[in-house]
Formats: sequence, C-alpha cells, structure tokens
Amino acid sequence: MKLPSLLQPRIIKEAIKALIKGPYTSKFPFKPHTPFERFRGKPEFHHEECVGCGACVQVCPAGALSLEDKGDKRILTVRWDTCIFCGNCQANCLTEKGIILSKEFDLATTGKREELFQSIEKELVRCSFCKEIIAPSDQLIWVAKKLGTMLFSNTSLMLFYLSKEKLAEIKSLPDKELPTLRSDRFHILCPKCRREAVIKS
Ligand code: SF4
Ligand code: SF4
Repeated sequence: MKLPSLLQPRIIKEAIKALIKGPYTSKFPFKPHTPFERFRGKPEFHHEECVGCGACVQVCPAGALSLEDKGDKRILTVRWDTCIFCGNCQANCLTEKGIILSKEFDLATTGKREELFQSIEKELVRCSFCKEIIAPSDQLIWVAKKLGTMLFSNTSLMLFYLSKEKLAEIKSLPDKELPTLRSDRFHILCPKCRREAVIKS
C-alpha cells in the first residue's frame, strides 16, 4: 500500500533536516537573498574594461545586446527584459571583462519594462580621408598593446597609438577626399584608403 506523501521516509527525513538546519528557502524579499556562487544574474557592461568591439552583440542569441554608431560614438546597450542569462556574451568578450554576469536577479520595476537596460558609449576613430569607421578608440589601443613591437607594421595603428601617448602629432589634413601623395600615407587611414594611398603614390 502506498503511504500518504507526508509519511514517506524521504519526506520525514527532509522535514527533520529542515527542523534542525532551518528551511532551504530564503525570506526574500523581506530579507536579502544571497545567490549561489555561480549564479547567472543580469549582465553588466564594465566601461573601463569594454573596448566596444561588438563581439558580444554578435553572439547574443536573444537579441538583448545592440550596437549603434552615431557620429563619433558607438553606443552599446544590454536589455535585461530580453536577456536569457545564457552567459554567451561574457564567454566571448574580447577582453574577458567587458561584460560580466552579476549576481543581481531582482528585475522588478515600478517604471516601464523598457527602462530595464544599461548603455555605454565608446569613442569611434574614423578614416582621415573618407571618414569611414575604423574601430573604437579603446579597441585600437587594446590591439596596439597586444601587438607590442609588431605595432610598427601597421602605420595607422602606430600613428594613432603614438598620438594617444602624446609621442606623435597627427598632421593637419589636406582638403581632399582620397589620399594621392606619398605623405598621405602618414595619416590614420581605413584599409581602402591605405590601399589607394599605396597604389597612387
Ligand atoms: S547573457 Fe545571453 S542573452 Fe543575456 S545579454 Fe548575454 S548573450 Fe545575450
Ligand atoms: S569588449 Fe567585450 S563587452 Fe565590450 S563590446 Fe567587446 S565583447 Fe562586448
């Protein structure tokens, strides 16, 4: 005969354990709840560590991450109402620390659901001639540091890095749309304009 569920040995064992050790459940929201160590809460951008590369946006399966280039700024946004807390963004972050899943789980809001987001801005570097976006400034600095002495094989990157370190000055621009002179090579150029500069000079 099947015992009523409350009299089953497993249930009695668990009840005695709970009486001695206290209940498994927490008293949230009356008392703060501490999530377990590997809990995946809402992802947050860390402005100092993020270089604005956009890799996380590419791998987000839920479309919770977005990127918009506006003028000289790249705006990265994470929407917590769309996020499925998979951790793909953190796992694929270029710097490994640009976006990290926090232990925050409480998404309750008295406002609108649309307010559940975080945005950060990154400065963009554009080609001196055609104004095409090259990359965010922080990403170029990150790559330059990774390259070390090999940085000198890429003129645009080297010029940008040296100017940021105040070791070089970017010369004023000639009033033209495409590089045609040999001296034009010594500007921050996108790959297309660099090709033009090399071919035409
Ligand atoms: S945790 Fe997953 S769903 Fe949420 S922002 Fe990161 S990649 Fe997108
Ligand atoms: S550095 Fe990391 S967080 Fe920032 S845009 Fe790139 S992948 Fe995303």
